[in-house]
Amino acid sequence: MIGIFGGTFDPVHYGHLRSALEVKEIFGLDEVRLIPSSQPPHRNLPHAPAKLRVQMLKLAIENQPGLIIDTREIDRVGTSYMVITLESLRQEFPDQPLLLFIGSDAFNQLTCWYQWQRLLDFVHIIVLTRPGFTVRQLDDFFAARQIANKQDLSEQLAGKLYFQPITQLDISATAIRNMIANERNPGFLLPDAVIAYIKQHQLYQTQTAQTAY
Ligand code: ATP
Repeated sequence: MIGIFGGTFDPVHYGHLRSALEVKEIFGLDEVRLIPSSQPPHRNLPHAPAKLRVQMLKLAIENQPGLIIDTREIDRVGTSYMVITLESLRQEFPDQPLLLFIGSDAFNQLTCWYQWQRLLDFVHIIVLTRPGFTVRQLDDFFAARQIANKQDLSEQLAGKLYFQPITQLDISATAIRNMIANERNPGFLLPDAVIAYIKQHQLYQTQTAQTAY
C-alpha cells in the first residue's frame, strides 16, 4: 500500500512530518509520497516558490526511508487538482491500494474540491482526526463508504473512508510564517535544517504571499 500526503508545505513542519511517519507505521505502508502543490485551488498562493518548498522538504526528510517527495503537481504547472493527481498515481500504481491522508479540517471542506466524488475512484481516504475535533456529519455518500476496520483497506484498491486518530501537534505553517515575519524563533516546530534554509533565502520576512513563480 502507498500513502499520499498533499499540502503546500510552506514551510514543511513537524505536524506534517510526524503525521507522515506515524501513518506509514500504522498502515504498514511501503512509502508515503509527499506531494507539494503548485497552486492550490482553495487558498491563496503559497508564499515561497515551489522549487524552494521542495528543497525544504528534501532537507526535512533526509534519512527517513519511505518518505518520498513527489513533484508531479509542481511539474504540471497551473492549478493543483487532487483528482488529476490521483488519476495519474493510479495509472502508475495499478495494483496497489492507495491511501490519501487528509486532516479533519481539510475533510470538512472536501465537497468543495473539484470533482470530489471521483476521488474515491482512485484512492481510499484516511481522515487524520484530532481528539475532540468534530468532523462534520457524514452525508450518505461518505456514510456508505465508511469502514470501521483498517484491515478492510487492503481488500480493494480504492473507495473506502476511514478515520484515524494521530498524535496531536498544534503546529501550522501560517503560525510559523507569522513568527518569522515578527522576528520570533520558530525553533522546535520544524527541522533546524529547514530553519537554516529559510534564513539563508530570507523567506517569510513579510506576511504577503508571492505574486509570481
Ligand atoms: P497553512 O497554515 O499554510 O494553511 P498547514 O500547516 O495547514 O499550512 P498544509 O501544507 O496546508 O499545512 O497541510 C497539508 C496537510 O497536512 C493537510 O491535510 C493538513 O490537514 C495536514 N496538516 C497540517 N498541519 C498538521 C498538523 N499539525 N497535524 C496534522 N496534520 C497537519
